[in-house]
Amino acid sequence: MLLSDVVEASRDVRATSSRKNKINVFAELLKRAAPQELAQVVAWLSGDLPQGRIGTGWRTLTTLEVESAAEPTLSVAAVDDAFSELAGVGGSGSTARRQELLTALFARTTKAEHDFLIRLLTGEMRQGALTAIVAEAVALAFDVPIAAVRRAHMLSGRLPVTAVAARTGGVAALAAFRLEVGRPIQPMLASPGASLDEALAEFGGEATVEHKMDGARIQVHRDGDRVWIFTRTLRDITASVPELVDLVRNLDCTSVVLDGETLALNDSGRPRPFQETMSRFGAATAQELLLHPYFFDCLHLDGADLLDAPLRERRAALTKVACGLSIPALIAPDPETAAEYFDGALAAGHEGIMIKSLDAPYAAGRRGRSWQKIKPTHTLDLLVLGAEWGYGRRTGYLSNLHLGARDPEGGEPIMVGKTFKGLTDALLQWQTAEFPRHERERDATTVYLHPELVVEIALDGVQASPRYPGGAALRFARVVRYRPDKEPHQADTIDTIRALLPEGIRLTDDSQLE
Ligand code: AMP
Repeated sequence: MLLSDVVEASRDVRATSSRKNKINVFAELLKRAAPQELAQVVAWLSGDLPQGRIGTGWRTLTTLEVESAAEPTLSVAAVDDAFSELAGVGGSGSTARRQELLTALFARTTKAEHDFLIRLLTGEMRQGALTAIVAEAVALAFDVPIAAVRRAHMLSGRLPVTAVAARTGGVAALAAFRLEVGRPIQPMLASPGASLDEALAEFGGEATVEHKMDGARIQVHRDGDRVWIFTRTLRDITASVPELVDLVRNLDCTSVVLDGETLALNDSGRPRPFQETMSRFGAATAQELLLHPYFFDCLHLDGADLLDAPLRERRAALTKVACGLSIPALIAPDPETAAEYFDGALAAGHEGIMIKSLDAPYAAGRRGRSWQKIKPTHTLDLLVLGAEWGYGRRTGYLSNLHLGARDPEGGEPIMVGKTFKGLTDALLQWQTAEFPRHERERDATTVYLHPELVVEIALDGVQASPRYPGGAALRFARVVRYRPDKEPHQADTIDTIRALLPEGIRLTDDSQLE
């Protein structure tokens, strides 16, 4: 199979909005893949590399100057070999060697193939929605029930392996996947809930209400004395979190699999900013900042597999084995008590609450309705300070917006974040035509604007940031719409944004400013 076959299927899938058509296109491709190519094709379609990270940054990828080939000739196997070689590069001179390998690879690609590889290598293609479609395509291509594919995927943690099993052994091979202590499974995900009351009503009151902690997901496995700790993306981080390993080793059991969130706490027991927890995950050695786990699920205990048991039972197992380390939860509260709890969660610096059906099994790897997250959403009116030229599909368009808050003292606006999310094709076209009229200056990547345009931005919150001049940065900002009805002096100020910082951080921040 040629790379161009995969690229064409990916293009066709992007061109149709019908989910059914998308699944059909991928299924046809998977049927045509040779057995030894199937794993790679499945991984690429869902935006993953079987080799994991291969150490090439976005800048390296996009600055390489290569002339495209006229005709597609590259095979799937040849590209996979090139990725393996790239993944194996290390030590001194590795940057130059990687550039050499990439240049050689890109020189053999057509323009469309080149674009596809850039999107694949930068992780731009990786989205849960796409993985769900590939899973359905696997079911359709190899004539097995989607439920069997999903289950095997969640248990193996890998869709390519699941696809190969579906093709070679059908339902029986898929059914043979088991929760194995030591092998991480895809975590269950939550859907955004409309409101606390609606979520409680949907579950007939048979729900737990828990803090939604803003840390990092962990999945902990223990078999006797052996302990493994995995991240949300199933990366093994056991070696860098010895304090968690010790806690788990001391639990009173022989084998267990727990799901939870880990936070770094400050002295007064309040959660530290999310990025500090994440930086621990990247660290090679243990540091001073202690990670505290908050477990919210138990998937296996002393030989019993609990995935299919209702949360009620899993929660009981959790309480039995790790009571002191589990997330506080209200079990089947009345709406008033739950509402007070929500307020309390926000006041304590958490980002919201989770509401979970007590009757539901652990739907691993899925963003189901039985876990719902309720967060307050904020929108802000901000000033557009500039925009970066897009790449890939957005080449030639002004895309990534630089967002600024107003200085209440009347000084220059203060940059608080960037976003290219939420921009429709029509908005991209409009921005590209409109922004040069407000241009202040430009460089190779960015057109800087006079702060004259107001844009409404939705965000999940604000985090402390040493990189941004106001000490605060938006989290998960996305464009809602432009506000031509608003004047720049009506935009939100940096004070409004700082007020959204979690309380503990705001205090330290202010004290640093004084
Ligand atoms: P989101 O990433 O916004 O879809 O929210 C889901 C994430 O919230 C999970 O992957 C966990 O990392 C995190 N989380 C925090 N508190 C909880 C909780 N009590 N139950 C489940 N997930 C939680």
